[in-house]
Amino acid sequence: MSVSRRKFLGWLSAAGAGALVGPTAHAAGNKHFSGYPDSLGVLHDATRCIGCRRCEQACNQVNDLPAPDRPFDDLTVLNNRRRTDAANHTVVNRFDIGGSAQPAFVKTQCNHCLEPACASACFVKAFKKLPSGAVHYDADLCVGCRYCMIACPFNIPTYEYDAALTPRVMKCTLCQPRLEKGQLPGCVEICPKEALTFGRRDKLLRMARERIRKYPDRYEDHIYGEHEMGGTSWLYLSEVPFSQIGMREDLGDTPAPELTAGALAAVPIVVGLWPVLLTGIYAISKRKDKIAEAEKADAVAATRAAAQKALEARVEEERTRAEKHQEMAIQREVKKALEAAAQAAAETESSAKEDE
Ligand code: SF4
Ligand code: SF4
Ligand code: SF4
Repeated sequence: MSVSRRKFLGWLSAAGAGALVGPTAHAAGNKHFSGYPDSLGVLHDATRCIGCRRCEQACNQVNDLPAPDRPFDDLTVLNNRRRTDAANHTVVNRFDIGGSAQPAFVKTQCNHCLEPACASACFVKAFKKLPSGAVHYDADLCVGCRYCMIACPFNIPTYEYDAALTPRVMKCTLCQPRLEKGQLPGCVEICPKEALTFGRRDKLLRMARERIRKYPDRYEDHIYGEHEMGGTSWLYLSEVPFSQIGMREDLGDTPAPELTAGALAAVPIVVGLWPVLLTGIYAISKRKDKIAEAEKADAVAATRAAAQKALEARVEEERTRAEKHQEMAIQREVKKALEAAAQAAAETESSAKEDE
């Protein structure tokens, strides 16, 4: 465990109990939102992570997710790059770093953005930024359009394709239900290397800066999540540039709602609109400061075309996957119904015979 229970409760009182539930606090919907100053978060120090996957196991247990195909102590799964899915709210990946004998391990989950693109994309406001820092998903409001999946710059939300009748968007909850009970997030509690530290985001930032200051040879001078896309509640430290451990460094600092708010307020959201809106993210990347105006125009045009193509491919991929899974789920439901009907008929026939 990274922190004692007493220390954890101390944090909560410093943040204010209301930070966890905040029934009266406003929540971020699909318009610009300036954040909750006392919100909580997690610092993932990738230099401490040993890739043991215990955080994945804890997440599976505390969220009551389906049992995995292969056990959590099977580390051969690290041979392939994985992403989160409906049954895995978090995954750890291994990265072999050129020139280093030691691989790096990085845990991935919803980053609980301060100004979430998923909430910005959701026109029924099924996503809300809570005062605790968690980006909360309300399945009762969700209409299943999956724009959130397309909007997320970190490629995190996934869909419960196997649930035929009530599929949900699935992602890390920051263990909000556990926080409300005074418990640590499951993954933080179990990590044997203190690679995960839970606390107030501002304190985590101070802690991260102090580690970089004390051990400049051990850390890149960059806290990932401090500014990316307007900042995130999960923060990361690494020994190598984040692009070498599978993290996007091209996102820029502008929050998604700021890029899209005007357009979203003015027009109904349709899938075809998203490529146009999201390419704004690319246009406001760091490169804009480095290249000349003419080159920038060319670069933006090329990026826009590439982004549009990639997004169209993702939309199509999601559509095909949804159709396939829905068909399979319906077939399963039909089979179950036929079996139940056959059994009922057999029972009726048998009781009719008994009556004779
Ligand atoms: S439990 Fe900790 S050390 Fe193990 S993989 Fe997860 S973050 Fe890394
Ligand atoms: S990482 Fe993606 S799913 Fe999580 S809050 Fe940010 S935009 Fe939403
Ligand atoms: S905070 Fe909770 S839901 Fe999120 S990765 Fe950790 S255990 Fe899973």
